[in-house]
Amino acid sequence: MAHFSAALLLFAFLVSAQGQIDDATKKLSDDIFKQLIEINTTDSVGNVTTASEAMAQRFRDASFAESDVQILGPNDRKKNLVVRLHGSGKHKPLLLIGHLDVVEAHHEDWTTDPFSFVEKDGFYYGRGTQDMKSGDAIMVTTLIRFKKEGFTPDRDIIFALTADEEGGKSNGVDWLLKNHRELIDAEMVSNHDGGGILSDHGKPVMMTVDATEKLYADFQLSVTNPGGHSSLPRPDNAIYSLTNALSRLESYQFPFELNEVTRVYYERMARVDTPERAADMRAILKTPPDSAAVARLSHDPIDNSTIHTTCVATRLNAGHANNALPQRAEANVNCRILPGHSAEEVRQELIKVFADPAIAVRYVDSFGNVFDTAASSRKSFPPPPLRRDVFGPLEKITEEMWPGTPVIPDMATGASDGVYTMAAGMPTYQISGIAIDRDDIRAHGRDERLGVESYYKGVDFYYRFLKAVTSE
Ligand SMILES: [Zn+2]
Repeated sequence: MAHFSAALLLFAFLVSAQGQIDDATKKLSDDIFKQLIEINTTDSVGNVTTASEAMAQRFRDASFAESDVQILGPNDRKKNLVVRLHGSGKHKPLLLIGHLDVVEAHHEDWTTDPFSFVEKDGFYYGRGTQDMKSGDAIMVTTLIRFKKEGFTPDRDIIFALTADEEGGKSNGVDWLLKNHRELIDAEMVSNHDGGGILSDHGKPVMMTVDATEKLYADFQLSVTNPGGHSSLPRPDNAIYSLTNALSRLESYQFPFELNEVTRVYYERMARVDTPERAADMRAILKTPPDSAAVARLSHDPIDNSTIHTTCVATRLNAGHANNALPQRAEANVNCRILPGHSAEEVRQELIKVFADPAIAVRYVDSFGNVFDTAASSRKSFPPPPLRRDVFGPLEKITEEMWPGTPVIPDMATGASDGVYTMAAGMPTYQISGIAIDRDDIRAHGRDERLGVESYYKGVDFYYRFLKAVTSE
């Protein structure tokens, strides 16, 4: 079959110039991915330490020094792994983070075994294939490749695989910062738990980078009343007071606000969105913003949550008998707070919105404990600058691998371990080269899966990106 045309040869050359990964790298990345998926790391019955130890062994086998591979944590099931690849020391270290724990998955809900690594129809199936054992495996693969090649980055690369991002009481990033800050202290952080290529039927739409995130906060509203017999209603009623307050919340909109990240987000989205939406995006970027455009965009749930703090009623509980006036009415209001604001600030705002001293508004922490006020530490930090030494290489490599695809900094409306590193003063960016179709986001869901080619491209991307960010 020595029948290649010049065009075919050129094509073959271009494909290799695009840098697809070789078979040895594919095998290494698959082996690691499979190993991680098949170690159950759920909070209920899983064990994060087992996964940390398995990855530690891989680093030792790749001739990382014993002292550069540390396993540590608060208890036997929740130990984290911290690995260091030494650089030239020209710059302060870069920290990579990834969580090893996964959300619960039940056999009976899935069509495959969630804890076995199954390849089917061009996808890898298993709990954690999207969130985020693919990212963990990609980072492990990349560092092992660097070590094998003898690559010396211009700064130390510290890598932490951690426990309890999804739940549980032993968040690894928080624990490491509190107990071994020196081990993971860095100039900036790259978290593989977000960002990446958003695609539509396999076609790349945008490369997103989560560069800031909203703050999660729950508030308990409660009204108490002496109650009494329901045959003799009184003017004050706990249920009416509470529902009237919730009605006021329903029609209340927190102020419009953009920050450094969402501003660039809309500038770039305006280049790729529909003409009507693009016009509205440009109009909200003006000073002062066009209020009609703000109102139109606010009809879209994603835009609404991007430009406002949001608070919404999520639970309701009241009364104790069909024939009694309610003695107590309670609701939970869940807020997603824009960067730069605190939970207490929002609690005060809610009190103003309800305008009813009968309603107590208390802060509820992630373990369900209720407090009269929110701790001053519950605040989200303003976004970090969009550093050129990160976004420059990112834009260049995105253009090489997904030509014409815009890089769009994004504000995550959920929360990640970046809250801890940001609070510790380390700018944190969620960066990944994995592509997931808009309608195939299955993190936390059933039959979680990731395209095989998307995974390999993610392996390729991260190697190139990390090398570019840590080279002169
Ligand atoms: Zn995650």
